Amino acid sequence: MGSRMEKGFGQSDPQVIAYAHRVFRPEDEVLRFVREESRRKGLPDIEVGSFDGLHLEVLVRMVAPSRVIEIGTLGGYSGIRICRGLAPGGRLHTFELDPRHAEVARANFDRAGVGDRVTIHVGPALENLAKVAREAPFDLVFIDADKGRYPDYLRWATDHLRMGGTVIADNTFGWGQIGQDGSGPAIADGPLAGLRRFNEMVAVGGRFAGTILPTAEGLTVAVKVR
Ligand code: SAH
Ligand code: MG
Repeated sequence: MGSRMEKGFGQSDPQVIAYAHRVFRPEDEVLRFVREESRRKGLPDIEVGSFDGLHLEVLVRMVAPSRVIEIGTLGGYSGIRICRGLAPGGRLHTFELDPRHAEVARANFDRAGVGDRVTIHVGPALENLAKVAREAPFDLVFIDADKGRYPDYLRWATDHLRMGGTVIADNTFGWGQIGQDGSGPAIADGPLAGLRRFNEMVAVGGRFAGTILPTAEGLTVAVKVR
């Protein structure tokens, strides 16, 4: 053991967690409706958790961005959070592979009163991102789609963010497996490998000042510095 104990990484005391939910009420009526509506419409239960959603909303409000990219729309839950933090006149381009998801998201954005600020691009994000490249530089990119492509999305973000622009990425603890030993095809090439590569690019790639917030899923947050 070292001479001095490190403080912990995150907080898992159930009483602290219950307290945080009680006091900060991470999800309001509109967002709860959107989450439930996404279930009724048959979308998978994979939007950001309520507290990760609140973190996202507050981080975006801090940045107050005008031009934002979201990769992975699902039913629009995180997109609504982002829209709440846009600067006046700001716009969100969100990218979704599945047209059924995009349709549910469209209705949810409208219901949440942010529909006029959002463009949904349906199809593979890497192809469609090229269509908005001429609007660069962007202020913020939120990455939350196919985990194997996180490094590609980060490369795109690096090229299309302004200096001082922000990257936020969800699920960067890789379902709790990010720190596991092992190699072999399943690990060397796949979602977990993508997440590991992504975190390394942020942490030691030289272009970002970044951290990984110890939420349940892991939320990587980084600022372009070079
Ligand atoms: N950000 C959402 C959750 C996104 S879930 C929220 O928190 O509310 C991941 C989404 O990414 C799914 O809807 C999935 O269809 C989409 N997706 C997967 N691969 C994609 C790709 N190549 N391009 C665009 N979207 C993709
Ligand atoms: Mg996610």
